[in-house]
Amino acid sequence: MTQAAFSPVPQTDPRAGYLAQKAEIDAAIRRVLDSGRYILGEEVEAFEAEFAAFVGAPHAIAVGSGTDALVLALRALGIGPGDVVMSVSHTAVATVAAIELVGALPLLIDIDACYGLDPDSLAAALDATPRQVKAVIAVHLYGQPAAMPAILALARGRGLAVVEDCAQAHGATLDGRGAGTMGDIAAFSFYPTKNLGALGDGGLVATGNAGLADKLRALRQYGWRERYVSDIPGQNSRLDPLQAAILRVKLQRLANDNRRRQAIAAAYDRGLAGTSLAPPKRRAGGYHVFHQYVVESPRRDELREALRARGIMTLVHYPVPVHLQPAYRGRVALAPGGLARSEAAAARVVGLPIYPQLDDAQVRQVIAALRDCAR
Ligand SMILES: *Cc1c(COP(=O)(O)O)cnc(C)c1O
Repeated sequence: MTQAAFSPVPQTDPRAGYLAQKAEIDAAIRRVLDSGRYILGEEVEAFEAEFAAFVGAPHAIAVGSGTDALVLALRALGIGPGDVVMSVSHTAVATVAAIELVGALPLLIDIDACYGLDPDSLAAALDATPRQVKAVIAVHLYGQPAAMPAILALARGRGLAVVEDCAQAHGATLDGRGAGTMGDIAAFSFYPTKNLGALGDGGLVATGNAGLADKLRALRQYGWRERYVSDIPGQNSRLDPLQAAILRVKLQRLANDNRRRQAIAAAYDRGLAGTSLAPPKRRAGGYHVFHQYVVESPRRDELREALRARGIMTLVHYPVPVHLQPAYRGRVALAPGGLARSEAAAARVVGLPIYPQLDDAQVRQVIAALRDCAR
Protein backbone atom coordinates (compact mmCIF):
# COMPACT_ATOMS: atom_id res chain seq x y z
CA MET A 1 0.00 0.00 0.00
CA THR A 2 1.07 3.53 -0.64
CA GLN A 3 1.69 6.10 2.03
CA ALA A 4 -1.41 8.01 0.91
CA ALA A 5 -3.69 5.09 1.70
CA PHE A 6 -2.79 5.52 5.36
CA SER A 7 -3.38 9.25 5.68
CA PRO A 8 -6.52 9.78 7.74
CA VAL A 9 -9.67 11.04 6.07
CA PRO A 10 -11.22 13.84 8.17
CA GLN A 11 -14.99 13.99 8.59
CA THR A 12 -14.95 17.65 7.61
CA ASP A 13 -12.23 20.20 6.82
CA PRO A 14 -13.11 23.91 6.79
CA ARG A 15 -9.44 24.80 6.23
CA ALA A 16 -9.55 22.98 2.87
CA GLY A 17 -12.43 25.28 1.91
CA TYR A 18 -10.30 28.32 2.75
CA LEU A 19 -7.25 27.00 0.87
CA ALA A 20 -9.39 26.27 -2.21
CA GLN A 21 -10.03 30.02 -2.55
CA LYS A 22 -7.14 31.42 -0.53
CA ALA A 23 -6.01 34.19 -2.90
CA GLU A 24 -9.54 35.55 -3.36
CA ILE A 25 -10.39 35.31 0.33
CA ASP A 26 -7.15 37.00 1.36
CA ALA A 27 -7.87 39.79 -1.13
CA ALA A 28 -11.42 40.18 0.21
CA ILE A 29 -10.12 40.48 3.78
CA ARG A 30 -7.58 43.08 2.69
CA ARG A 31 -10.32 45.03 0.88
CA VAL A 32 -12.32 45.28 4.12
CA LEU A 33 -9.26 46.19 6.19
CA ASP A 34 -8.45 48.98 3.74
CA SER A 35 -12.05 50.22 3.54
CA GLY A 36 -12.17 51.59 7.08
CA ARG A 37 -15.76 50.30 7.42
CA TYR A 38 -15.91 47.53 10.02
CA ILE A 39 -19.61 47.31 10.90
CA LEU A 40 -22.38 46.66 8.31
CA GLY A 41 -22.04 48.88 5.22
CA GLU A 42 -21.64 47.97 1.55
CA GLU A 43 -19.93 44.64 2.00
CA VAL A 44 -22.74 43.28 4.19
CA GLU A 45 -25.42 44.76 1.91
CA ALA A 46 -23.81 43.18 -1.13
CA PHE A 47 -23.66 39.78 0.57
CA GLU A 48 -27.29 40.06 1.67
CA ALA A 49 -28.38 40.81 -1.90
CA GLU A 50 -26.27 38.00 -3.38
CA PHE A 51 -27.40 35.43 -0.83
CA ALA A 52 -31.06 36.48 -1.19
CA ALA A 53 -30.76 35.92 -4.94
CA PHE A 54 -29.12 32.53 -4.39
CA VAL A 55 -31.92 31.17 -2.18
CA GLY A 56 -34.70 33.04 -4.00
CA ALA A 57 -35.79 35.04 -0.95
CA PRO A 58 -36.94 38.67 -1.36
CA HIS A 59 -35.23 39.91 1.83
CA ALA A 60 -32.06 38.87 3.67
CA ILE A 61 -30.77 40.31 6.95
CA ALA A 62 -27.27 39.22 7.99
CA VAL A 63 -26.72 38.66 11.72
CA GLY A 64 -24.15 37.35 14.18
CA SER A 65 -24.88 33.60 14.13
CA GLY A 66 -27.43 30.97 13.24
CA THR A 67 -28.68 30.95 16.81
CA ASP A 68 -29.19 34.72 16.67
CA ALA A 69 -30.96 34.31 13.32
CA LEU A 70 -33.49 31.98 15.00
CA VAL A 71 -33.89 34.28 18.01
CA LEU A 72 -34.38 37.35 15.82
CA ALA A 73 -36.81 35.48 13.55
CA LEU A 74 -38.94 34.56 16.57
CA ARG A 75 -38.73 38.08 17.99
CA ALA A 76 -39.73 39.57 14.63
CA LEU A 77 -42.78 37.30 14.66
CA GLY A 78 -43.67 38.72 18.07
CA ILE A 79 -43.10 35.46 19.93
CA GLY A 80 -42.22 35.78 23.59
CA PRO A 81 -43.03 34.71 27.15
CA GLY A 82 -45.97 32.32 27.46
CA ASP A 83 -46.00 31.35 23.79
CA VAL A 84 -45.39 27.74 22.76
CA VAL A 85 -43.15 26.97 19.79
CA MET A 86 -43.05 23.47 18.34
CA SER A 87 -39.91 21.95 16.86
CA VAL A 88 -37.83 18.78 16.83
CA SER A 89 -35.47 17.22 19.35
CA HIS A 90 -33.14 15.59 16.79
CA THR A 91 -31.40 18.85 15.88
CA ALA A 92 -28.63 21.19 16.97
CA VAL A 93 -29.40 22.36 20.48
CA ALA A 94 -29.49 25.93 19.10
CA THR A 95 -32.93 25.32 17.57
CA VAL A 96 -34.44 24.71 21.00
CA ALA A 97 -32.21 27.18 22.84
CA ALA A 98 -33.52 29.97 20.57
CA ILE A 99 -37.10 29.25 21.63
CA GLU A 100 -36.19 29.65 25.30
CA LEU A 101 -34.00 32.69 24.60
CA VAL A 102 -37.12 34.63 23.58
CA GLY A 103 -38.91 33.40 26.72
CA ALA A 104 -41.16 30.96 24.85
CA LEU A 105 -41.76 27.29 25.68
CA PRO A 106 -40.52 24.54 23.37
CA LEU A 107 -42.77 21.58 22.58
CA LEU A 108 -40.77 18.90 20.81
CA ILE A 109 -42.10 16.69 18.02
CA ASP A 110 -40.81 13.39 16.64
CA ILE A 111 -39.03 13.02 13.28
CA ASP A 112 -39.89 11.11 10.12
CA ALA A 113 -37.72 8.66 8.15
CA CYS A 114 -35.85 11.59 6.52
CA TYR A 115 -34.98 13.16 9.92
CA GLY A 116 -37.42 16.03 9.42
CA LEU A 117 -40.28 17.13 11.69
CA ASP A 118 -42.93 14.40 11.37
CA PRO A 119 -46.30 15.85 10.25
CA ASP A 120 -48.22 13.03 12.01
CA SER A 121 -46.48 13.74 15.31
CA LEU A 122 -47.16 17.47 14.73
CA ALA A 123 -50.86 16.83 14.05
CA ALA A 124 -51.18 14.77 17.25
CA ALA A 125 -49.40 17.44 19.29
CA LEU A 126 -51.58 20.20 17.85
CA ASP A 127 -54.74 18.26 18.71
CA ALA A 128 -53.56 17.74 22.29
CA THR A 129 -52.23 21.23 22.88
CA PRO A 130 -54.00 24.35 24.04
CA ARG A 131 -54.04 27.57 22.18
CA GLN A 132 -50.75 29.24 23.09
CA VAL A 133 -48.93 27.52 20.22
CA LYS A 134 -47.67 30.36 18.04
CA ALA A 135 -45.13 28.87 15.68
CA VAL A 136 -43.41 25.77 14.42
CA ILE A 137 -39.71 25.58 13.51
CA ALA A 138 -39.05 23.01 10.79
CA VAL A 139 -35.39 22.01 10.53
CA HIS A 140 -34.03 20.91 7.15
CA LEU A 141 -31.64 18.54 8.88
CA TYR A 142 -28.51 17.18 7.19
CA GLY A 143 -29.31 19.25 4.08
CA GLN A 144 -32.63 17.66 3.22
CA PRO A 145 -35.88 19.67 3.22
CA ALA A 146 -38.50 18.73 5.83
CA ALA A 147 -42.00 17.68 4.69
CA MET A 148 -42.99 21.33 4.15
CA PRO A 149 -46.30 20.94 2.28
CA ALA A 150 -47.81 18.85 5.12
CA ILE A 151 -46.24 21.01 7.84
CA LEU A 152 -47.44 24.23 6.17
CA ALA A 153 -50.96 22.85 5.75
CA LEU A 154 -51.18 21.94 9.46
CA ALA A 155 -49.68 25.27 10.56
CA ARG A 156 -51.89 27.36 8.28
CA GLY A 157 -54.97 25.53 9.56
CA ARG A 158 -54.09 26.68 13.07
CA GLY A 159 -52.79 30.15 12.19
CA LEU A 160 -49.24 29.30 13.26
CA ALA A 161 -46.16 31.00 11.89
CA VAL A 162 -43.65 28.70 10.19
CA VAL A 163 -39.92 29.23 10.72
CA GLU A 164 -37.42 27.25 8.64
CA ASP A 165 -34.12 26.34 10.29
CA CYS A 166 -31.91 26.28 7.19
CA ALA A 167 -28.58 26.10 9.04
CA GLN A 168 -27.72 22.89 7.18
CA ALA A 169 -29.62 23.50 3.96
CA HIS A 170 -28.14 26.38 1.91
CA GLY A 171 -29.34 25.69 -1.63
CA ALA A 172 -31.66 22.76 -0.84
CA THR A 173 -35.05 22.75 -2.57
CA LEU A 174 -38.34 20.86 -2.38
CA ASP A 175 -40.53 20.67 -5.49
CA GLY A 176 -38.44 23.52 -6.90
CA ARG A 177 -38.91 25.85 -3.91
CA GLY A 178 -35.80 26.95 -2.06
CA ALA A 179 -35.20 26.11 1.58
CA GLY A 180 -35.80 29.44 3.27
CA THR A 181 -38.64 30.52 0.97
CA MET A 182 -41.38 28.08 2.00
CA GLY A 183 -42.34 29.33 5.46
CA ASP A 184 -42.77 32.85 6.85
CA ILE A 185 -39.17 33.36 7.84
CA ALA A 186 -35.93 31.37 7.75
CA ALA A 187 -32.68 31.22 9.68
CA PHE A 188 -29.29 30.34 8.16
CA SER A 189 -25.97 29.72 9.91
CA PHE A 190 -22.52 30.32 8.44
CA TYR A 191 -20.65 28.32 11.09
CA PRO A 192 -17.41 27.27 9.37
CA THR A 193 -18.41 23.66 8.59
CA LYS A 194 -21.84 24.49 7.14
CA ASN A 195 -22.43 24.22 3.37
CA LEU A 196 -21.70 27.95 3.23
CA GLY A 197 -19.23 28.62 6.03
CA ALA A 198 -17.59 31.80 7.25
CA LEU A 199 -14.17 31.86 8.94
CA GLY A 200 -15.89 32.58 12.23
CA ASP A 201 -19.50 33.03 13.27
CA GLY A 202 -22.27 34.32 11.05
CA GLY A 203 -25.96 33.96 10.34
CA LEU A 204 -28.80 35.39 8.26
CA VAL A 205 -32.56 35.73 8.35
CA ALA A 206 -34.47 35.43 5.07
CA THR A 207 -38.11 36.36 4.55
CA GLY A 208 -40.60 37.27 1.88
CA ASN A 209 -42.35 39.70 4.20
CA ALA A 210 -41.17 43.32 3.89
CA GLY A 211 -42.59 44.24 7.31
CA LEU A 212 -40.69 41.45 9.03
CA ALA A 213 -37.53 42.41 7.13
CA ASP A 214 -37.83 46.00 8.30
CA LYS A 215 -38.34 44.87 11.90
CA LEU A 216 -35.34 42.53 11.68
CA ARG A 217 -33.04 45.30 10.48
CA ALA A 218 -34.03 47.29 13.54
CA LEU A 219 -33.88 44.33 15.97
CA ARG A 220 -30.32 43.39 15.00
CA GLN A 221 -29.07 46.88 15.83
CA TYR A 222 -30.46 48.27 19.11
CA GLY A 223 -33.93 48.68 17.61
CA TRP A 224 -32.72 51.53 15.42
CA ARG A 225 -34.58 52.59 12.33
CA GLU A 226 -32.74 55.87 12.47
CA ARG A 227 -29.28 56.09 14.03
CA TYR A 228 -29.38 56.64 17.83
CA VAL A 229 -33.18 56.35 17.96
CA SER A 230 -34.49 53.02 19.21
CA ASP A 231 -38.00 52.44 17.85
CA ILE A 232 -38.29 49.02 19.46
CA PRO A 233 -36.19 47.23 22.07
CA GLY A 234 -33.41 45.60 20.07
CA GLN A 235 -30.13 43.82 20.52
CA ASN A 236 -26.74 43.74 18.82
CA SER A 237 -26.27 40.95 16.30
CA ARG A 238 -24.58 41.96 13.05
CA LEU A 239 -22.55 40.02 10.52
CA ASP A 240 -19.00 41.44 10.29
CA PRO A 241 -18.04 43.01 6.96
CA LEU A 242 -14.96 40.74 7.11
CA GLN A 243 -17.14 37.63 7.22
CA ALA A 244 -19.49 39.10 4.61
CA ALA A 245 -16.56 39.62 2.23
CA ILE A 246 -15.34 36.05 2.82
CA LEU A 247 -18.85 34.66 2.35
CA ARG A 248 -19.24 36.57 -0.95
CA VAL A 249 -16.19 34.72 -2.27
CA LYS A 250 -17.39 31.35 -1.02
CA LEU A 251 -20.97 31.89 -2.24
CA GLN A 252 -19.65 31.87 -5.83
CA ARG A 253 -18.76 28.20 -5.36
CA LEU A 254 -21.74 27.09 -3.29
CA ALA A 255 -23.74 25.55 -6.14
CA ASN A 256 -20.67 23.61 -7.30
CA ASP A 257 -19.81 22.63 -3.74
CA ASN A 258 -23.34 21.28 -3.22
CA ARG A 259 -23.05 19.27 -6.45
CA ARG A 260 -19.75 17.82 -5.24
CA ARG A 261 -21.43 16.81 -1.96
CA GLN A 262 -24.16 15.09 -3.99
CA ALA A 263 -21.58 13.25 -6.11
CA ILE A 264 -19.87 12.01 -2.94
CA ALA A 265 -23.26 10.92 -1.57
CA ALA A 266 -24.02 9.04 -4.79
CA ALA A 267 -20.65 7.26 -4.57
CA TYR A 268 -21.41 6.27 -0.96
CA ASP A 269 -24.86 5.01 -2.02
CA ARG A 270 -23.23 2.70 -4.59
CA GLY A 271 -20.48 1.70 -2.18
CA LEU A 272 -22.95 0.63 0.50
CA ALA A 273 -24.66 -1.90 -1.79
CA GLY A 274 -24.13 -5.38 -0.36
CA THR A 275 -23.17 -4.06 3.11
CA SER A 276 -25.33 -4.10 6.26
CA LEU A 277 -25.77 -0.31 6.00
CA ALA A 278 -28.56 1.41 4.06
CA PRO A 279 -28.15 4.75 2.25
CA PRO A 280 -30.08 7.64 3.83
CA LYS A 281 -33.67 7.97 2.63
CA ARG A 282 -34.40 10.78 0.18
CA ARG A 283 -37.61 12.78 0.25
CA ALA A 284 -39.48 12.72 -3.10
CA GLY A 285 -39.11 16.04 -4.91
CA GLY A 286 -36.23 17.12 -2.69
CA TYR A 287 -32.84 18.51 -3.71
CA HIS A 288 -30.69 17.27 -0.82
CA VAL A 289 -27.47 19.26 -0.34
CA PHE A 290 -25.86 16.69 1.97
CA HIS A 291 -24.56 18.82 4.78
CA GLN A 292 -24.19 15.35 6.30
CA TYR A 293 -24.33 11.85 4.83
CA VAL A 294 -25.80 9.82 7.65
CA VAL A 295 -26.14 6.05 7.99
CA GLU A 296 -27.62 4.12 10.90
CA SER A 297 -26.13 1.15 12.69
CA PRO A 298 -27.32 -0.73 15.78
CA ARG A 299 -23.61 -1.06 16.64
CA ARG A 300 -22.75 2.51 15.82
CA ASP A 301 -19.95 3.02 18.32
CA GLU A 302 -18.15 -0.20 17.25
CA LEU A 303 -18.52 0.81 13.62
CA ARG A 304 -17.01 4.23 14.34
CA GLU A 305 -14.09 2.65 16.17
CA ALA A 306 -13.44 0.16 13.33
CA LEU A 307 -13.53 3.00 10.78
CA ARG A 308 -11.24 5.12 12.92
CA ALA A 309 -8.73 2.27 13.08
CA ARG A 310 -8.71 2.44 9.26
CA GLY A 311 -8.15 6.20 9.32
CA ILE A 312 -11.75 7.19 8.58
CA MET A 313 -13.10 9.90 10.87
CA THR A 314 -16.83 10.12 11.51
CA LEU A 315 -19.10 12.37 13.58
CA VAL A 316 -22.38 11.86 15.38
CA HIS A 317 -24.89 14.69 15.03
CA TYR A 318 -26.44 14.38 17.57
CA PRO A 319 -25.68 11.67 20.15
CA VAL A 320 -28.21 12.93 22.70
CA PRO A 321 -31.59 14.34 21.60
CA VAL A 322 -32.22 17.78 23.04
CA HIS A 323 -35.02 16.57 25.36
CA LEU A 324 -32.60 14.16 27.07
CA GLN A 325 -29.73 16.63 27.51
CA PRO A 326 -28.99 17.75 31.08
CA ALA A 327 -30.18 21.31 30.43
CA TYR A 328 -33.60 20.17 29.13
CA ARG A 329 -34.33 16.70 30.50
CA GLY A 330 -37.62 16.40 32.34
CA ARG A 331 -38.36 20.05 31.67
CA VAL A 332 -39.44 20.51 28.05
CA ALA A 333 -42.85 19.44 26.74
CA LEU A 334 -43.00 16.53 24.29
CA ALA A 335 -45.46 15.36 21.63
CA PRO A 336 -48.12 13.02 23.09
CA GLY A 337 -46.79 9.89 21.34
CA GLY A 338 -43.25 10.48 22.63
CA LEU A 339 -40.10 10.80 20.56
CA ALA A 340 -39.21 7.16 19.84
CA ARG A 341 -37.75 7.85 16.40
CA SER A 342 -35.64 10.74 17.66
CA GLU A 343 -34.26 8.59 20.48
CA ALA A 344 -33.52 5.69 18.13
CA ALA A 345 -31.82 8.01 15.63
CA ALA A 346 -29.59 9.52 18.31
CA ALA A 347 -28.40 6.03 19.27
CA ARG A 348 -27.76 4.86 15.70
CA VAL A 349 -26.74 7.72 13.38
CA VAL A 350 -23.21 8.34 12.19
CA GLY A 351 -22.04 10.93 9.67
CA LEU A 352 -19.43 9.82 7.11
CA PRO A 353 -16.75 12.19 5.81
CA ILE A 354 -18.32 14.76 3.51
CA TYR A 355 -17.05 18.17 2.38
CA PRO A 356 -16.48 19.59 -1.11
CA GLN A 357 -12.70 19.15 -1.15
CA LEU A 358 -12.88 15.43 -0.27
CA ASP A 359 -11.31 13.87 -3.38
CA ASP A 360 -12.19 10.69 -5.26
CA ALA A 361 -9.28 8.73 -3.78
CA GLN A 362 -10.46 9.61 -0.26
CA VAL A 363 -14.02 8.65 -1.16
CA ARG A 364 -12.75 5.25 -2.37
CA GLN A 365 -10.79 4.91 0.88
CA VAL A 366 -13.98 5.53 2.90
CA ILE A 367 -15.96 3.02 0.81
CA ALA A 368 -13.26 0.32 1.08
CA ALA A 369 -13.21 0.75 4.87
CA LEU A 370 -17.01 0.65 5.07
CA ARG A 371 -17.17 -2.54 2.99
CA ASP A 372 -14.61 -4.02 5.34
CA CYS A 373 -16.33 -2.95 8.58
CA ALA A 374 -20.02 -3.38 7.70
CA ARG A 375 -20.24 -6.59 5.68
C1 LIG B 1 -25.46 25.13 13.23
C2 LIG B 1 -26.90 25.07 13.53
C3 LIG B 1 -27.55 26.09 14.25
C4 LIG B 1 -26.82 27.18 14.97
O1 LIG B 1 -26.01 27.96 14.21
P1 LIG B 1 -24.81 28.81 14.91
O2 LIG B 1 -24.33 29.64 13.77
O3 LIG B 1 -23.80 27.82 15.38
O4 LIG B 1 -25.39 29.60 16.00
C5 LIG B 1 -28.93 26.03 14.39
N1 LIG B 1 -29.64 25.01 13.87
C6 LIG B 1 -29.05 23.99 13.20
C7 LIG B 1 -29.89 22.90 12.64
C8 LIG B 1 -27.66 23.98 13.02
O5 LIG B 1 -27.09 22.97 12.36
